[in-house]
Amino acid sequence: KLKLENKVALVTGGSRGIGAGIAKKLAREGANVVITYTNSKEKAQAVIKDINKFGQRGLAIQANSANTDEVINAVDQTASNFGKLDILVNNAGIFPFGDPEDFTLEEIDRTLAIHVRAVYIASQTAIKHMEAGGRIISIGSCFANRVPFPGVSLYAMSKSALIGFTKGLARDVGQRGITVNVVDPGSTDTDMNPTDGPDAEEEKEWLAVGHYGNVDDIAGVVTFIAGEDGRFITGTSVAVDGGFEA
Ligand code: NDP
Repeated sequence: KLKLENKVALVTGGSRGIGAGIAKKLAREGANVVITYTNSKEKAQAVIKDINKFGQRGLAIQANSANTDEVINAVDQTASNFGKLDILVNNAGIFPFGDPEDFTLEEIDRTLAIHVRAVYIASQTAIKHMEAGGRIISIGSCFANRVPFPGVSLYAMSKSALIGFTKGLARDVGQRGITVNVVDPGSTDTDMNPTDGPDAEEEKEWLAVGHYGNVDDIAGVVTFIAGEDGRFITGTSVAVDGGFEA
């Protein structure tokens, strides 16, 4: 029996990178999967094709995480189209990098809207639909715990917010049988952080394993937490970072 048979999952930012990897892995384990995206319509459709190849239903919804109405709509549409919602993966993200003196108010607000407010709103909406066995998994970052170089203050602030959120919400919904966790990836080969990018060589030096992870390294842990085997894990951060924090 597949580990996520008959489950319904929503993965925000599932058209590329880590989110696409998570969406496909959840489907491979038997879940029907909805993904959101902003620009990459064709890539989102390709992910849905892969989900269908695994024998599962998929749906791609264009929903900008910076827009609260679109976030709420994506969650509600998942539940209405598939009859329920079991797994929410808050993955959509951006990488603001630079000197703190240069960030505009707009950039600060946009970062917090996508990384923090959208996570809260999506989770708030999702728990209205979730029953016992529900899972809320947010994709944070290893920079929530350790920031060994400059330029990351805004990003690190937005990702560390997920730790407090995760602990608090785990307490709110624990007795209902819903778990809440944050997975903190380290350097993972995606468009956001390609292994041939300008900082990749330096980044590798921060990792105990000496090389980048791939999206399946993150997706495997998310899928484990999403399944029955993960039921006693809640209110915690799980580092999947090749030893970045060691
Ligand atoms: P990518 O840039 O490769 O992919 C980002 C995904 O998020 C795309 O599907 C994109 O959609 C979507 N997205 C971006 N902005 C929005 C938005 N406003 N609303 C909805 N969807 C959006 O990033 P990664 O896969 O690398 O990152 C995924 C998550 O993992 C992020 O939260 C990131 O912070 C985190 N992370 C990544 C690390 C890494 O090394 N790669 C390390 C630590 C954490 P579209 O295709 O339409 O643009």
